[in-house]
Amino acid sequence: MAFMLIHGDCANCRHPISYNADRVPSLSLSGKRRAICAVCFGEWNRIHRTSKGLDPVPLHPDAYAPLEVA
Ligand SMILES: [Zn+2]
Repeated sequence: MAFMLIHGDCANCRHPISYNADRVPSLSLSGKRRAICAVCFGEWNRIHRTSKGLDPVPLHPDAYAPLEVA
């Protein structure tokens, strides 16, 4: 059994993060998907969802956990 964890920086705040590439929330910047940290995702939810009376988009529980690969 093997696992994969991507290390990079948040597309918004540049804080170093480790994430599951299949589950992490991301933003589209210049046509590329870029991962964002949980704090920035929470802020995105506040600005784009809850402040407008909408339910927040749930954070996947494995967003920052290793991805199991075959
Ligand atoms: Zn961030």
